[in-house]
Amino acid sequence: MFRHVAGSVYFRVSNSMDSNIGFIDGEDSKILIDAGTGIYHGNLEKDLQSIGSSAEEITDIIFTHSHIDHIGGVLPFLELQSSRLYLHRSEGELINSGNMMLTLGNTFGVDLPPFKIHHLLEEGDTITFGDVNLEVYNTPGHSIGSICLHIEDLRLIFTGDTMFPGGSFGRVDFPTGSPKDLVTSLKRISEMDFETALPGHMNAIYSNAKKHAISSYKTAQSWFKT
Ligand SMILES: [Zn+2]
Ligand SMILES: [Zn+2]
Repeated sequence: MFRHVAGSVYFRVSNSMDSNIGFIDGEDSKILIDAGTGIYHGNLEKDLQSIGSSAEEITDIIFTHSHIDHIGGVLPFLELQSSRLYLHRSEGELINSGNMMLTLGNTFGVDLPPFKIHHLLEEGDTITFGDVNLEVYNTPGHSIGSICLHIEDLRLIFTGDTMFPGGSFGRVDFPTGSPKDLVTSLKRISEMDFETALPGHMNAIYSNAKKHAISSYKTAQSWFKT
């Protein structure tokens, strides 16, 4: 189920292998932040309908990174041919060249066909939908093209698999993962202004999220001794 978070932002915490999924109910655009594995697309459709939308209405899908549990869900949307796709340049260019290695599809036995990312994101980009501004921060560590999306007005951040609740964070042992980069990225996040954090897995943090970010940073720093 999607829960209303703030403004036009909704969030669906996963109870499966899927990543969590964000939804922004813009006036002219309906946006997903990550799309899950795609295995449970029927459930996602139902959950979108229960908040008055539908899969057909999705105009834009922004991926926090290209791992299969976040990007595999793109497939049913490709068939609808209506959504613009966004991913950080470092991972998007690989996919656009037909190299699906970083999706880990093979590792998890999912055969993801090549497709095109329309918008290659960069650090410092702002993606605007009506009055919603998503600021793009490249936060490598879990993967090279991992991003966080900050909505300053709502004091809210989507953290992907970079930062999780309770002082935890994404693993760094997949290709392009880097403990050192992760510590630097968590430090950056812990210095930003937000109250709510919506991570790629585990529960959403609806208050005092910055405390969790500081705790993730400190834990990573001591684990990885940087
Ligand atoms: Zn994930
Ligand atoms: Zn991941």
